[in-house]
Amino acid sequence: LFARPWAFQTSVTDMANLPEAAGTEIAFAGRSNVGKSTLINALTGRKGLARTSSTPGRTQMLNFFSAPETPLTFVDMPGYGYAQAPKDLVEAWTALVFSYLRGRPNLRRVFLLIDSRHGLKKNDLETMALLDKAAVVYQIVLTKADKIKPTQLARLEADTLVALKKRIAAHPEVISTSSEKQKGIDDLRAEIARFTSF
Ligand code: GDP
Repeated sequence: LFARPWAFQTSVTDMANLPEAAGTEIAFAGRSNVGKSTLINALTGRKGLARTSSTPGRTQMLNFFSAPETPLTFVDMPGYGYAQAPKDLVEAWTALVFSYLRGRPNLRRVFLLIDSRHGLKKNDLETMALLDKAAVVYQIVLTKADKIKPTQLARLEADTLVALKKRIAAHPEVISTSSEKQKGIDDLRAEIARFTSF
């Protein structure tokens, strides 16, 4: 599944241009700079596949990635949480993301990335509320685990699990990763592989 040559498929800014809903779709969401591009690149083994588009005010896009003859598509959702993001940009993000989440029949899971150093922030909780409302199962993936001590990581994992208990659509397991140290990448791959038939 992950040994194949993953490639960029398409970018969309509106629902009318979504690619056909074929196979299983998995999406990745998180605050800008959370390490989303780096994680997608680590999962697919393609260094330059997902690129950081961390420019406030930039067009909000859903980026689709796939591999030949693989019934699996990755969707890189636009990062959120710019400190100075104007209100209309936040609203555009919410509109695009919510209509995608609500209307995508083959979307099986959203991995919501959280920086291990920061934990759940207000805008992460807002995104979780949006996912609950759209009734899409989401799973927390802690990123940059190499940046904190193992004891701190263990506490964060435990605290995050407690926070998830109150959530409707949250998958009750957390995966800790470090793209830098290749930690948790195989665990995440195994979780993703469960959604496909091979
Ligand atoms: P994105 O905006 O969410 O796509 O974030 P990027 O993937 O561009 O990563 C943001 C920054 O975090 C970059 O400087 C990365 O090198 C760094 N980063 C990403 N993953 C890791 C990680 O696992 N460990 C460490 N230490 N840094 C990371």
